[in-house]
Amino acid sequence: MNYRSLLHYLEKNGVEFKENYSTSELVTFRIGGDAKIVIFPKNRRQLIDILRILKNDKFVVIGNGSNCYFTDGFYDGAIIATSKLNSISRENNLVVAECGAPITKVSKFAFDEELCGLEFSYGIPGTVGGAVAMNASAFGSDISTVLKESLAYDICSDKLVVLSNAEHIFSVKSSVFRKSRLILILSKFELQKGSKSEIYDKMNDNISRRREAQPLNLPSAGSAFIKPEQGYASQMIDSLNLKGYTVGGAQVSTKHAGFIVNIGGATAADVNDLIEIVKRKVNEQYKINLEEEIIYIE
Ligand SMILES: Cc1cc2nc3c(=O)[nH]c(=O)nc-3n(C[C@H](O)[C@H](O)[C@H](O)COP(=O)(O)OP(=O)(O)OC[C@H]3O[C@@H](n4cnc5c(N)ncnc54)[C@H](O)[C@@H]3O)c2cc1C
Repeated sequence: MNYRSLLHYLEKNGVEFKENYSTSELVTFRIGGDAKIVIFPKNRRQLIDILRILKNDKFVVIGNGSNCYFTDGFYDGAIIATSKLNSISRENNLVVAECGAPITKVSKFAFDEELCGLEFSYGIPGTVGGAVAMNASAFGSDISTVLKESLAYDICSDKLVVLSNAEHIFSVKSSVFRKSRLILILSKFELQKGSKSEIYDKMNDNISRRREAQPLNLPSAGSAFIKPEQGYASQMIDSLNLKGYTVGGAQVSTKHAGFIVNIGGATAADVNDLIEIVKRKVNEQYKINLEEEIIYIE
């Protein structure tokens, strides 16, 4: 890693960073070992400068870490956390939000502006960057249905690019950001004028459904598996009586079989072992290869 240049830049520009930092502090799963450095750029200029410095080195950009977890060993790279790039504004029927803005705050902003369309995302614990990269979905909608365009930095060409909805190449729990060297800077969501009380009711209903169905009292990274075409992963796992199945501190949630939760002291290895066991058992019974939604970074 071009570590000296990086530190020089960070110190000179007053960028917040932490060395040898525990990744468990950065992810909702609360697991993982230390990382060489975590950097918190406070504006786009800094984000792009840091990406330029790191372009040939090992690094990852994260939002709220609610869909990923790191190795138990040392992550010998840089983690760029976008939490400080979090502005939200309005342009006519568009809501414009930077990559680090929590998607729930964007949804709440739309509500305040009497704009509907983002209610489904209320309660998803991620940022705009993570939600767009993962095409976050809930209650029959997903990000692709409301996204107009994004501004991204292309590490390969060293250029800012505007991506139309089609250029995001959205699919189930994926987008172009998962398979390229594009880093999302901001997105514009195209919403409709709505009734405040109807938007409120939908958001409220969504939060209640989340509280009822999801194990929100324990650390997790959300649904562990992508929904296969043939049905629901959680139903298949439940049918095999795997709720409560535990490896070390990692457990198939007793509340929602699609979630793997950290019941205390879980390691990334525990989670990975549990995932393999669940996948094997589902495959033996249903001849389906479950695919992980949660992202393991090593
Ligand atoms: C309790 C709980 C409930 C959840 N419910 C849902 C749900 O209903 N629906 C749903 O879809 N998900 C759900 N999730 C999963 C997760 O919250 C979403 O996928 C969320 O959108 C991830 O956002 P994040 O900022 O945390 O992403 P992270 O976990 O930080 O990152 C996820 C991926 O996005 C990439 N990424 C992040 N920012 C950028 C950027 N600026 N540019 C390029 N790539 C970037 C990362 O590199 C990584 O590959 C849930 C998770 C939890 C813990």
